[in-house]
Amino acid sequence: MTPHVEPDPQAGAAVKAADRAHVFHSWSAQGLIDPLAVAGAEGSYFWDYDGNRYLDFTSGLVYTNIGYQHPKVVAAIQEQAGKLATFAPAFAVDVRSEAARLIAERTPGDLDKIFFTNGGAEAVENAVRMARLHTGRHKVLSAFRSYHGATSTAINLTGDPRRWASDTGSAGVVRFWAPFLYRSPFYATTEAEESARALQHLEDTIAFEGPATIAAMILETVPGTAGIMTPPPGYLAGVRAICDKYGIVMVLDEVMAGFGRTGKWFAAEHFDVVPDLMTFAKGVNSGYVPLGGVAISAEIAATFDKRPYPGGLTYSGHPLACAAAVATIQVMEDEKVVEHAAHLGENVIGPALRELAERHPSVGEVRGLGVFWALDLVKNKETREPLVPYNAAGEANAPMAAFGAAAKKNGLWPFINMNRTHVVPACNASEAEVKEGLAALDAALSVADEHT
Ligand code: PMP
Repeated sequence: MTPHVEPDPQAGAAVKAADRAHVFHSWSAQGLIDPLAVAGAEGSYFWDYDGNRYLDFTSGLVYTNIGYQHPKVVAAIQEQAGKLATFAPAFAVDVRSEAARLIAERTPGDLDKIFFTNGGAEAVENAVRMARLHTGRHKVLSAFRSYHGATSTAINLTGDPRRWASDTGSAGVVRFWAPFLYRSPFYATTEAEESARALQHLEDTIAFEGPATIAAMILETVPGTAGIMTPPPGYLAGVRAICDKYGIVMVLDEVMAGFGRTGKWFAAEHFDVVPDLMTFAKGVNSGYVPLGGVAISAEIAATFDKRPYPGGLTYSGHPLACAAAVATIQVMEDEKVVEHAAHLGENVIGPALRELAERHPSVGEVRGLGVFWALDLVKNKETREPLVPYNAAGEANAPMAAFGAAAKKNGLWPFINMNRTHVVPACNASEAEVKEGLAALDAALSVADEHT
């Protein structure tokens, strides 16, 4: 994939200058950032105005599941724009019904009604609202080491440092520890032990909070941003049983793990669990037009059969976003993207990362599935001390910054969060592309090794 534009550093400088003058960036100290000016993207690659090309091992923010500029999705958006560019949510619109049908057919169990949002955080907000109204209870259980979005409730449910600055005291939010054997909150040494202790801890938490006060429990099926921590066998089934026992609504957040990322349409399929509500966004249409939603069980949908659901969004089920979803799902079926993601995980990425872990002193653990992998970088494999301290910034973060710079120098755009790098290419990246990225990662890890 070669850039389609001639290098034009002057144009790049102008784009950057306008950005610096007027764009206020997410999660950033505005005066300290230096965003790359992007000139174009296609498939698994993007390029800047200087002619540098990068292989995207981040899929944007883990959402371009079928890569950039897929011609069929671009055409579907263009066609829809010509036909009916927008229409308000209270009306039945062909492309909206079709998107809902295609999504409902792929979600597990009886999650057959779809409430559309513009992204993941709004999906989480609405799932919580549905659960509260359905149960008449108010508290929500959420896990440490989680990310659920940056709106008011979603950020309060989030169990990572990003919530610290905007934490309002988390009214009604009760946090618990989900399983994570490598850094076990339960001092467990086996997966079976970790799973059993995590379930006991969850049930104890519910007992002490008061089961009759808890509306919902929200969990990422495979926690993504916080480190791609595949739950141990039996854990999610155990959570399902606990939720059933206490009448708690089980919400699985599949905003990142859904739509092929784990090598199945939804990660819940790996564990044979059906939640009561499931949030999605990102991969539903590869993010070409903002779209998210909540897939709703028959029982919860029935709550709002005669009683109005008190929530909505101007752009809910936007026709352009739905057209992109219909086309994306079609592409994923036609091109067997979900099967390909499973193949990449089992036969290419998994084996290669495990081999890197053996050779590089900085790689403490490798974990994941499908095209959803994390490398936990450490100073010391024995003690598992992270390569940089929790929530490190500036000088303290220098080892990860050096690793990132080395990757970029080798043409790889890496995902970096705290002491981890995630390997999350497009679900339809070719084997050759993935191998090219893994070779660049290998070289960059040698720089991380210098800090062990
Ligand atoms: N839930 C999960 C699991 C996510 O990964 C994210 C985004 N990274 C969100 C919710 C929030 O989605 P959005 O940024 O679209 O609001």
